[in-house]
Amino acid sequence: MAANSGRHFLQIPGPTNVPDSVLRAMAQPTIDHRGPDFAELAQDVLSGVRPVFGTDRPVVIYPSSGTGAWEAALVNTLSPGDRVLAFETGHFATLWRDMAEGLGLIVDFVPGDWRRGVDPAVVAERLAADEQHGIAAVMVVHNETSTGATSRVPEIRAAIDEANHPTLLLVDTISSLGSIDYRHDEWGVDVTVSCSQKGLMLPPGLGFNAISEKALAAAEGARLPKSYWNWAPILEANERSFFPYTPPTNLLYGLREALSLLEAEGMPNVFARHDRHAGATRAAVWAWGLEVLCADEREYSSSLTAVRLGEEHDANKVREVILDRFDMSLGAGLGKLTGRVFRIGHLGDFNDLTLAGTLAGVQMGLELSGVPIDPTGLQAALEVLRA
Ligand SMILES: *Cc1c(COP(=O)(O)O)cnc(C)c1O
Repeated sequence: MAANSGRHFLQIPGPTNVPDSVLRAMAQPTIDHRGPDFAELAQDVLSGVRPVFGTDRPVVIYPSSGTGAWEAALVNTLSPGDRVLAFETGHFATLWRDMAEGLGLIVDFVPGDWRRGVDPAVVAERLAADEQHGIAAVMVVHNETSTGATSRVPEIRAAIDEANHPTLLLVDTISSLGSIDYRHDEWGVDVTVSCSQKGLMLPPGLGFNAISEKALAAAEGARLPKSYWNWAPILEANERSFFPYTPPTNLLYGLREALSLLEAEGMPNVFARHDRHAGATRAAVWAWGLEVLCADEREYSSSLTAVRLGEEHDANKVREVILDRFDMSLGAGLGKLTGRVFRIGHLGDFNDLTLAGTLAGVQMGLELSGVPIDPTGLQAALEVLRA
């Protein structure tokens, strides 16, 4: 391992680099979570987080990983034996399916090739065939972090509406929220699942559920067992600016600062920045002569790019060389993509020169690993950034 001077480059698609101001905001004494100072903090974050989800309605914040927020979405809205429709877009969609089955739900799992998002035409077809309205929820991973493919949620919503089907729409935005355009209310999503350590630029530890009126009504009759995840006591305590248990106070300080950074930049600018950096990354990958895993240009992810290597090269070896030589972490191939791809995270606290440094490290690492590339990739990205 080379001596580590300068900053580590944490270019995995979550956890992401945490801005200094967020780290400083968290470095405060922990306060009484039943006192007036906490109530002020709670009001700031509970109202401030809504625009990031594109909702005017309450958002539940858990001390949890994203996986916890997945579970919360299911147990608050569904009952044992309910049927749900899910799509094999990649590793995370498969894990969420496994969780749903483990909780006693019956999952119709539409197979996929791990190179594209959810096909809205298949949503339409499956719902049209479900004349008895047995499907209680459609589960979609907005940005599949294992593949770098982003599903087109508005088109999925339109497919549900066209089928005139009463299903709930549950969407995982864990690696898209705060990076890729997303609108909970406008797109008619019922539960939006997210967490802190990706586009929100925070350490791991906060999970989120944005909840539609329809989802809240469904929660009244939902019979899956729940206690910690139950929305009702949390929403009730939140109305008084408190939590029904000890909240993660210092992470909430960080959240308040992260929300103010996003607000200052403006969400449309945040999304445009991510789109631009993703475009520059793809320009580099193609100029190197390598392949972007996502096979549909309408679904290229703006928060990460998965790069596919030929069978003769081990992507984990490339990642090891880059970590060892340049102190940069890249995302591994997950599940059946192990060793076949590496993933470049370009989300969160990120600017043109962070991307230039990242791609310089990737280019040198590919060369040092013996992967034959055309070394004009970095230059191709710089041209996009300069334009
Ligand atoms: C990271 C991630 C998860 C899992 O989140 P944890 O905080 O690790 O539980 C789930 N879904 C997607 C799309 C992710 O990117």
